[in-house]
Amino acid sequence: MLCSYDIKIYGIVQAVGFRPMVYFYAVKNNIRGFVRNMGSFVFVHGEGTEENLNKFTEDIKNNPPKNASITEFYTEKTEFLGYTDFQIRESKDEKGNIFISPDLAVCNNCRNEFSDINNPRYEYPFINCTDCGPRFSIINDVPYDRKNTAMAEFDMCESCADEYNNPLDRRYHAEPTCCPVCGPKLFFHGKWEKLNRENPAETACNYLDRGKIIAIKGIGGYHLACNAKDHEAVRKLRQRKHRYEKPFAIMTKDLATAEKYASVSLAEKNILVSRESPIVLLEKRENTDNILSSSVAPNTDKIGIMVPYAPIHYLLFRYLETDALVMTSGNISDEPIVYKEEDAFERLADICDGFLFHNREIENRIDDSVVSCFENKIYPIRRARGYVPKSFSYIRGAKPQILACGALLKNTFALCKDGNVYVSGHIGDLEEGTAFEYYLNQINLYEKIFSIKPDIVISDSHPDYINSKWAETLNIPVIKVFHHKAHAVSAMAQNNLSEAICVTYDGTGYGEDGTVWGGEIFAGSINNPERMGHLKPVAVSGVNTYLSEKISPFKCLVPYLDEDDEFLKLNNLESEYKLIKSVRKLSSFETTSMGRFFDAVSCLVLNKKDISFEGEAPIMLESIAKGEYTDIYDYNIENNVVDQYEIMKQIKTDIKNNISQSEISVKFHNTVASFTAEICENISRETGLKNVTLSGGVFQNMVLLEKVTEKIRNFGLAPYVCRIYPANDGGISFGQAVMALEKEN
Ligand code: ZN
Ligand code: FE
Repeated sequence: MLCSYDIKIYGIVQAVGFRPMVYFYAVKNNIRGFVRNMGSFVFVHGEGTEENLNKFTEDIKNNPPKNASITEFYTEKTEFLGYTDFQIRESKDEKGNIFISPDLAVCNNCRNEFSDINNPRYEYPFINCTDCGPRFSIINDVPYDRKNTAMAEFDMCESCADEYNNPLDRRYHAEPTCCPVCGPKLFFHGKWEKLNRENPAETACNYLDRGKIIAIKGIGGYHLACNAKDHEAVRKLRQRKHRYEKPFAIMTKDLATAEKYASVSLAEKNILVSRESPIVLLEKRENTDNILSSSVAPNTDKIGIMVPYAPIHYLLFRYLETDALVMTSGNISDEPIVYKEEDAFERLADICDGFLFHNREIENRIDDSVVSCFENKIYPIRRARGYVPKSFSYIRGAKPQILACGALLKNTFALCKDGNVYVSGHIGDLEEGTAFEYYLNQINLYEKIFSIKPDIVISDSHPDYINSKWAETLNIPVIKVFHHKAHAVSAMAQNNLSEAICVTYDGTGYGEDGTVWGGEIFAGSINNPERMGHLKPVAVSGVNTYLSEKISPFKCLVPYLDEDDEFLKLNNLESEYKLIKSVRKLSSFETTSMGRFFDAVSCLVLNKKDISFEGEAPIMLESIAKGEYTDIYDYNIENNVVDQYEIMKQIKTDIKNNISQSEISVKFHNTVASFTAEICENISRETGLKNVTLSGGVFQNMVLLEKVTEKIRNFGLAPYVCRIYPANDGGISFGQAVMALEKEN
């Protein structure tokens, strides 16, 4: 007997070849009816025998396209209408939960076509298919159809249209389908040279190999690129970009080349070549700084590497002599990445010697993602291309629509509807250049794409954050959340914990008692974890209102130094010390920040007085923490509060006794791990909680992360790290959204 099913499939089911796959299974199982994109879900009407219909739904459920991710699947018996064939129908806009695929790295099939001289898309830098290519970066409205993307202005040629319309073709309904005849084109524009259409990529490569800096338009924005082996070129790029010390990431020709410059574990290899294709922070090889320019990633034992992910990158490495390019966001200093031609020509003209660009618009700019690998799994540092805009289903069907404003630095925001949280890509430091404007634009865009109209806004308790002030002007109820609680809740929620002990080691943030927090241990339920342990408050000179993360390490060290401290004499810092001391009387803030404690120790151990970017000194301290030393410094814990002064005293003694910097650094890391685990154990005994989350920017320090996890396990407790949203301030917006959901639901 023939019957009929309606099927609704939610999740990442658009722009990943879902409909063609459904068509394929329909034909295979002799099913009639149709499939259609509904904006937020895929709708299937299937008719056939009950047995075939069951096989059909099992096929879809068990073997969806590899880039799809099904979150909900409903089937319902419906009226038999007597369809005579199976069709893919036009999309229909339907309100509901919307899932849009992130941008996907070039797939193997496309790479093969790209390198096949007989293929019409040979060396075509915009090749893509249902398995790969740009997605979120080209969408300007939903549903995901060509007319709502940057491809709308390119009419498909006959042969592309044939592929697009053939249900058995691997480009069937691949919205960005195009070829050299009908699709976007590449151009090169030299600074002193007119537009070059003939061999733009080759020209750009020539420039790069000759030590020039080129702005390259990619998937989510412009990169600034130069030969990573050319010291002069890298130095020039640093100077022109006003980025003097902060490490650059590189793109290597392929995976094998990446292994030349870094040791790459199997897990790291898989992340490097994944469809998300992030920058992976890897351990440098011993001679890497000799082969590459030593100023690519100075003062660190790590290097950020990505492999080609867009066809334009493959094209470049076909012509390039060098096998490694510095690839850094096309911006000045910490401003948002440039993604429009007019903008690029204006803002990057002083930095680069030429532009390699194309005429496919980038609708949503998006940075490269940055990740580490911890215990063989992804540990995100900056979440953007490849991961955004995947959502997190927190409380299914929750009522309130929420905007979470995020932190001030490393900002992301989050929007929430029906209990799904959509965290934006990395926005950056909101007070840099045009970042705040970008922030507002992105909020607008996300609200439009996901059709969200917030009825609650949630912001940081700090009264002076530019986004917290802005939240007050929206005329909807505002919920304030303390920075480090948001960190703790973010860590709990992404690990599906409803209660935990939450170690939150961070830079600085506004604390509940009016002081500046950053070395806190919370415990309790996700609704409102309580502060149960912390570092001893230290008075650091500076103005507390702005809470700049760029405060000098020496200022952080001053509270631990006496007037006649040897460190001052040795480094000729006596007068500076007096000055800071006298200023401190006038303006200083009390802080329990672990980040500032690391700054102080780094300053003492490495004589690193000033820094050019946040976290620079602790990164150096982490880099030298090598060797199998198991010693720790003595410490005192009273009421779960640690006295850092004690520890500092012993470090000074070690320095006096000429103990190596490496040994001191390892001992220091051991010590922090040890007292952290001990406090957690105390709290565990008090509360009965066994799960411990680790978050806050300090946990970008992988040496510390490893040691803390180990010591916590030794106490029989279970450590949880941030695997979906970063442990740093990029994960704050998610924590805020969850807190609002918990409160309002
Ligand atoms: Zn492909
Ligand atoms: Fe923070």
